[in-house]
Amino acid sequence: MKIIDVTTHVLEAPLTVPFRWSFNRADIRQTVLVEVTTDTGITGWGECFGPSRPIAAIIQSFKPLLLGADALATDLIWQTLYDRCRDQGQKGMPVCAISGIDIALWDIKGRYFDAPVHQLMGGPLRSEVEAYATGMYRRDDGDPLEYLVEEALGYVADGFKGVKLKIGFDVEGDVAIARAGRQAVGPDIKLMMDANHGYDVIDAIRMGRMVEDLDIRWFEEPVVPEDLAGYREIKAALKIPLSGGECDYTRYGFRDILATRSIDIIQPDTCAAGGLSECKKIADMAVAHGIRYIPHVWGTGIGLAASLQLLAVLPHNPPGWKPTEPLLEFDRSEHPFRQAVLKQPLDHVNGVVQVPTGPGLGIEIDRDGIRRFEVD
Ligand code: CA
Repeated sequence: MKIIDVTTHVLEAPLTVPFRWSFNRADIRQTVLVEVTTDTGITGWGECFGPSRPIAAIIQSFKPLLLGADALATDLIWQTLYDRCRDQGQKGMPVCAISGIDIALWDIKGRYFDAPVHQLMGGPLRSEVEAYATGMYRRDDGDPLEYLVEEALGYVADGFKGVKLKIGFDVEGDVAIARAGRQAVGPDIKLMMDANHGYDVIDAIRMGRMVEDLDIRWFEEPVVPEDLAGYREIKAALKIPLSGGECDYTRYGFRDILATRSIDIIQPDTCAAGGLSECKKIADMAVAHGIRYIPHVWGTGIGLAASLQLLAVLPHNPPGWKPTEPLLEFDRSEHPFRQAVLKQPLDHVNGVVQVPTGPGLGIEIDRDGIRRFEVD
């Protein structure tokens, strides 16, 4: 089965309420989808996490390497693309581009063998995943202590058993929000906090110590991803587990995180860290190092479906009568085309999401939905 075409679709949509995190602000949603066509008529879809236009350009530059290649040879294609850009592309956008292509090729493989990706990857180990709500961003206007408490209560009312707060702005204000968040959701809801690398080591330790009594499940990206020594200092200073890795890439990048035990819970993004092929390898490396893996998920239903396929095969570590299960990051912030790209949306019921069981990623693409948001 030969690849005969590779198409990129850049999608954009304005937000009605722009949102902020530690260092940036979004007033649009954007993504790049990858469509790979084969000579059998089977097509596959993938998604890349990151700046859509430059990643689309990288994917287009890979096209001569992809046309005519065997679509089922996922590891060979991954290695060919990575080797081609290795000297200047071990991290960042070239790997994001490979990720979207790899996901599309797994979608093709599943459709070819009429099996969901998780079955071809040796699973499923689970057929449903507990989701936690990501949101709780800051807005341009209003009192965050008011609107964030209201938002958190909305997620609990929706049935979510976990909620992640955005911090990384200023320690005192962030502490007040974490306290108000715990007070609002009560003791039984998993509460996480994500600084989007908005602190230095001193502020991260100060922040952590001031909320150590709140049963925070993890403290995400306390410092910039390059500062693994900083992660280790914070890890040694705090009782709260550290998570991170949404800005890290490939088995090589995670090798260094795992071998140095810098992060308690790694969070590779399937649409950025190297796709399904690479993230399965990273997951197995994490097991060998005894470190938890809870993927970062951000994007449309296509990225969500790919993440669910991977979540279905993440190994239990350790096995047991009631093993610790991975969680699905379920972004609840405004996204005009998150579900519009799918014919049937992937939704949660009481905070639980079923792993799609159809062939490939298990989703059907809504081309009209894609066209509505596609830009030149
Ligand atoms: Ca994050």
